[in-house]
Amino acid sequence: MTETGTLFIVAAPSGAGKTSLVRALIEDDPSLALSVSYTSRPPRPAETDGVHYHFVDRQVFLAMAAAGDFYEYAEVHGDLKGTARSAVQPFLDAGRDVLLEIDWQGARQVRAQQADCRSIFVLPPSSAELERRLRSRAQDSEAVIARRLANSREEIAHAHEFDYIVVNDDFQTALADIKAVIRAQRLRQGLQADRHAGLIAELLGDPAV
Ligand code: GDP
Ligand code: ADP
Ligand code: 5GP
Repeated sequence: MTETGTLFIVAAPSGAGKTSLVRALIEDDPSLALSVSYTSRPPRPAETDGVHYHFVDRQVFLAMAAAGDFYEYAEVHGDLKGTARSAVQPFLDAGRDVLLEIDWQGARQVRAQQADCRSIFVLPPSSAELERRLRSRAQDSEAVIARRLANSREEIAHAHEFDYIVVNDDFQTALADIKAVIRAQRLRQGLQADRHAGLIAELLGDPAV
C-alpha cells in the first residue's frame, strides 16, 4: 500500500512568527515540503519571487482561480492568496508531508477536502509583543501594519477551529511544540501498522515471516 503524506496547516495573525517557525521546521527536517503560495500582494523588499511567494497580478490570479488551479484561495488583508494544487498533490502522492502557511479561510477549505489534515494555530504571547514583532520586521508600511493589527483579532477569533494551539513566546519551545505535533502524527496506528507489518507478523509468530 502506498503511503500518502499529511497536510499540516500553520496559521497565525500576521507577525506571530509563523514564517520563522516554518522556515526552522524545514531546515530541521528537509523531508517536509513547503507549499509556496500565489499572491496578488507586491513583494516586500526582502522577498524573492518563487521563494517566498509566486507574485502575480490580480488578473492572473483570478484567471488561475477560474481555471481551478487552486487547492484553496482567499482574500487576506486585501490581497488574494492561494495554494496551487501543483504545490500540494505531487508531494502528498510521493508520501511527503506538506506544510501550508495559510489563513483561517484557507484552512476551512483544506479541511473540507482533506479531513485527515492537521491544523496548528500560533498565538503571540501578548498584543503588545505582536505589535512589536510586526514593527521589528520593518518590512511593511505604517498603514499595512495598522491593517494587520486590526485583522489579527479576526484571525485569532478562529483559533478554536484548529486541532492544536501553540504559543510562540520562547521560539525554541514553540518550535519543539510544532515538531511534537508532526512527530505524533507520523506515529499514528494506521501508518505505523502498515510500515511495520512485517515486524508485527514476526512478533505474532506468523510462520510466513
Ligand atoms: P505574514 O503573515 O505577516 O507573514 O504575511 P504574509 O503576507 O506572508 O501572509 C499574510 C497572510 O496570508 C498569512 O498570515 C496567511 O494566513 C495568509 N496566506 C498566505 N498564503 C496563503 C495561501 O496560500 N492561502 C491562504 N488562504 N492564505 C494564505
Ligand atoms: P509571520 O510570518 O507570522 O507574520 P514572522 O515569522 O515574519 O511572522 O515573525 C515576525 C517577527 O517576529 C520577525 O521579525 C521574527 O524574527 C520575530 N519573531 C518570531 N518569533 C519570535 C519569538 N519567539 N520571539 C521574538 N521574536 C520573534
Ligand atoms: P503576508 O502578506 O504577511 O505574507 O501574509 C498575510 C496572510 O496571508 C497570513 O495570514 C498568511 O497565512 C496568509 N496567506 C499566505 N499565503 C496564503 C495562501 O496561499 N492561502 C491563504 N488562504 N492564505 C495565505
